[in-house]
Amino acid sequence: MMKMTELKKEKNSVYTDRAYLEINLNNLKHNVMVLKNAMPPQCELMAVVKADAYGHGAFEIATYMNRIGVKAFAVATIDEGIELRRAGISGEILILGYTAPARAKELHRYDLTQTLINYEYALGLNKQGYRVKAHIKVDTGMHRLGFDDEDAESAAAVFSLKHIKVSGIYTHLCAADSLDKKDICFTNRQIQSFYQMIKRLEERGINIPKVHIQSSYGLLNYPELRCDYVRAGIALYGVLSSPDDTTKLQLDLRPVLSLKAKVILLREIEKGDSVGYGRAFVADRDSLIAILPIGYADGYPRSLSCGKGYVIINGHKAPVVGKICMDQLAVDVTDLPDVKIGAIATVIGQDGKEEITAPVVADNLGSIANELLCRMGRRLKIIIA
Ligand SMILES: *Cc1c(COP(=O)(O)O)cnc(C)c1O
Repeated sequence: MMKMTELKKEKNSVYTDRAYLEINLNNLKHNVMVLKNAMPPQCELMAVVKADAYGHGAFEIATYMNRIGVKAFAVATIDEGIELRRAGISGEILILGYTAPARAKELHRYDLTQTLINYEYALGLNKQGYRVKAHIKVDTGMHRLGFDDEDAESAAAVFSLKHIKVSGIYTHLCAADSLDKKDICFTNRQIQSFYQMIKRLEERGINIPKVHIQSSYGLLNYPELRCDYVRAGIALYGVLSSPDDTTKLQLDLRPVLSLKAKVILLREIEKGDSVGYGRAFVADRDSLIAILPIGYADGYPRSLSCGKGYVIINGHKAPVVGKICMDQLAVDVTDLPDVKIGAIATVIGQDGKEEITAPVVADNLGSIANELLCRMGRRLKIIIA
């Protein structure tokens, strides 16, 4: 009989033949602890696992968090919510986005909590005749989803709709990541106007349900707020959106995801030879090129072609040469010692003294870590480290 660890190793070696995600659950657990410690005692963590848990694999992430005691989750769509329920996830699942009212029966059946994006929407959902749990969203300045923050009357009216059970009320900050004076001023106005709405509801005799305001940066920059939930996404995965962001609270967050691929082929080319589509790379010396079975279909952006991106092999950097293909890319390993077929290339993550972080890669592309991570390809195997 094979031992569990051997079995796991064997399974992993099969699944790591190509490109894969290594998910570090110890780091996830650490981040959960660190975030909880930064939150007020009565406040609960609502783990944001939309977009396949920011590319980390919603099943793996949510199952593990459920196991370590996380009881509230947020997703973007009803189908993401249903998938979690079918995977056995318990506790509250809040849908942050729009759901067609015609799907009220599924909201009820899967015990999902729907965000009410305005009063008309609440009426439409109520009309379906299925009892649905809901959180009222208040627009305090983002001007995306939510009830007008002046319109306490409509918000109050929702509490007496027959089929809607309001269990929460929340808002979303749109500049909480910035410590610029004007942005802080704007954010404070958002917070004030949210509490003003709460006060007006109280004045109308409403029993206030759970309240929440902060996402990751909301907690990091406005830790003094006293809410019932923090909706944490990016911080849970152990990174900030951008590498140069400074935050009021500085927490020891650890990246959960690494992206890796194996060297499947080594090719010697001569000075003047080209590599890849469009002959975009032409060698200016005799070179050793390693082919990696990972491409833009795996979520490694094509705009990192031609030296804009690099990987780490045996603790050394190797630049991407030529255009990144859908399923493959080439790196120059001429200067690297001792690269062999089967060597692991770290595309995002740490190897020896070198580290490639998602925020830095994303920043290099003019984006944020959130986008880079949530676009990880669905065909990547997920390996639990
Ligand atoms: C995505 C999302 C979050 C999580 O944001 P992070 O910055 O990743 O923590 C929280 N609240 C809402 C409404 C969201 O859409």
